[in-house]
Amino acid sequence: MPDQSRLNAPVAAPVTTLRGWLDNLAEHGRLAVIRPDVGLRFELAAISKRLDGSKATFFPHPGGHAIPVVSGLFGDRAWVADAMGVTADAVLARFSAAVANPLPWREVKSAPVQEIVHDQVDLLRLLPIPTHNELDSGPYISAGLLISRNPRTGVQNVAIHRCQVNAPDELGILLLPRHTLAFYEAAERDAEALEIAIVIGVDPLTSLASQSIAPLDFDELTIAGALHGEPIEVVKCQTNAVRVPASAEIVLEGRILPHRREPEGPFGEFPQYYGERAKRHVAKIDRITHRRDAIFHTIVGGANEHLLLGAIPREATLLGHLRRNFPNVLDVHLSMGGVGRYVLYVKLHKRQEGEAKNVIMGAFAGHYDIKHVIVVDQDVDIHNWREVEWAVATRAQADQDLVIVANAQGSKLDPSSHDGVSAKMGIDATVSLSAPAGKFKRIYVPGEESVDLAAVVDTKMGGDWRHARDGQGQRTK
Ligand code: MN
Repeated sequence: MPDQSRLNAPVAAPVTTLRGWLDNLAEHGRLAVIRPDVGLRFELAAISKRLDGSKATFFPHPGGHAIPVVSGLFGDRAWVADAMGVTADAVLARFSAAVANPLPWREVKSAPVQEIVHDQVDLLRLLPIPTHNELDSGPYISAGLLISRNPRTGVQNVAIHRCQVNAPDELGILLLPRHTLAFYEAAERDAEALEIAIVIGVDPLTSLASQSIAPLDFDELTIAGALHGEPIEVVKCQTNAVRVPASAEIVLEGRILPHRREPEGPFGEFPQYYGERAKRHVAKIDRITHRRDAIFHTIVGGANEHLLLGAIPREATLLGHLRRNFPNVLDVHLSMGGVGRYVLYVKLHKRQEGEAKNVIMGAFAGHYDIKHVIVVDQDVDIHNWREVEWAVATRAQADQDLVIVANAQGSKLDPSSHDGVSAKMGIDATVSLSAPAGKFKRIYVPGEESVDLAAVVDTKMGGDWRHARDGQGQRTK
C-alpha cells in the first residue's frame, strides 16, 4: 500500500489554466508547434494522431482561422500527474480526495472569456472546428464542456458531449442517458428548452473533473476546484443563467430545444469504431463569447487524450467501490488497449482462496462498461500489459480460474455486444495460497536495479569491441 502521507504531499502546484498547461507541456518538451495554415479537414487530426502520446500539438491559423487549435493535452498518465502536481502513483488518490472534498465555486462579475462577444453566430466562420476521422459526418466540437442547470434544483452539471455542426447556429448533440439528459427531459416535459453553455479551452484538471462518475446534482466544477486547491471562478452567461469558468477560452451560450431531433453522426469514438448516425438532440447557439486571443481545444476521437480522460475518473471510482468490500485491493487500472473503459486490471493482496473471484464479480457490478477483469498479485505491475499478460500466462488455468457471465449489461459502443447486451469474463491470475514455497518465486539478478549505467558503460568506446578487447578501453584508475 502506498504511503498515504507521501501521496497527499504535492510535488508541484496544480495547473489551473489552459495557458499554464501549455507552458508546462513546453517546459517538458511535450508541445509541438505546427506550421501555420494546416487544413481543418483530417490534416490537423492526422498530425495530432501521429504525435499522440509523445507531444501535444499547437496549430496556429488552422484553415486560415485567427484562433489557434490545441490537441493531445494528455498524452500519458504521467502528464496527468504533472497537471495535478503529484507523483504518478498518487493520481487516483488525489482524484478521490477531490471528489470527497469538493470546493464550491466563486462567482465574479466580469471575466476574460467575455472580452469578445458575437451575436451573429456562424460557428464555422468564427471557430476553427476540425473534422477528425474518415467517416465523421463533418466538423465536430469534441472538447466542449457542456454545462447545464437542473431545472428543479438549479445545481449545475458538467459533461463532455460530442457536438456536430448542423447549421451556422445549430449543433447536433449526443446525450447519453446521464445527467444532462435528465435535466433536458425535465425541461422538455414543461415544453421548455434547457439552457446550456458549451465551454471550450479549459485547464486539464477541469476537463478531468467533468468526467467524474458522480451522482446527480454533484457539480463537477466543485471537484475541479478541489483539484486546483482553490475555488473555480465562474461568471454568469450573458443570455442565460448558466455559470461558466471565468478563465475559459471560448463559451457558446445556447439552448437544447424541446421536441426537436435531427440526424447526428457517424463520429469516431473511443472504442476505435464509429458511433452510429441517428436522430439526436439539437442545440441553438444564441451567443459566442471568447477571450481576445482565444485558443480552441479539440480532442481527436479515440486518441490517448480521449481514453485517459475517461479512464482516470473511472479508475478512482472503481477503486473506491472495490475497497468498500475488499480492503486488500491495492490498485486498479483500465488498460489503454481496453480503450480505457472495458478491461480492468486489479492488484490484490490475496488473503483468502476464492477472493479474486469475488473481486471479479464486484468489478462487474462497479460499472456496466467493465467487460474483462484480470486479478493479479501485488508483485505484478498493472500499468505494464506485459506484466499482466505474464501473470495470466504463468498463474492462471482456464478450467479453474475463469469466470464467465452471459447476457449482462455492457457498452452499447462495443460492436461485439448485442445492442449493449454483453458477456463478461474474469481471469483469476493470482497464485494459490497453498502453492509450495519457491514455486512462484520470480527470478532476480541481485543488484540489477542499482546498477549505475553512467559509471559502468564506457561511452568513449562506442561499440568498438576490438579495441576494448585489446586493452585500449577507457581506464579511469
Ligand atoms: Mn454529473
